[in-house]
Amino acid sequence: MLILFRCPQGHKIRARRELAGQQGKCPRCGVKLTVPELPRPSGLEIKRDALTESALMRVLGDVPAPPPPPPPKTEPKRYCPRCRHVVSTATTVCGNCKLYVGVYVQPKKPVGSNDLN
Ligand SMILES: [Zn+2]
Ligand SMILES: [Zn+2]
Repeated sequence: MLILFRCPQGHKIRARRELAGQQGKCPRCGVKLTVPELPRPSGLEIKRDALTESALMRVLGDVPAPPPPPPPKTEPKRYCPRCRHVVSTATTVCGNCKLYVGVYVQPKKPVGSNDLN
């Protein structure tokens, strides 16, 4: 089997498979070269490989899409004891009737003190 490749000057060279990886000379221009290990039928093939490689690099370089953010916590709501208007937990005064409703305290889980006994 013959290995097809090109010398740096572009001359098509055919070398016997046994010469793969060895130093040689282009029979046309005499430039020193190394017989490639794998046959390279044409320059187009090499270009296509380079394109594929760069495309692959581009894909690999892309930052993967971040996972979707968790759904925003539903803000706890409380209601004005007088007018039942929704009062934001960030404020202490009912926006409707101006009643002071105090600082919002998050409901705590009941502590199972019975477990200690
Ligand atoms: Zn040559
Ligand atoms: Zn109110």
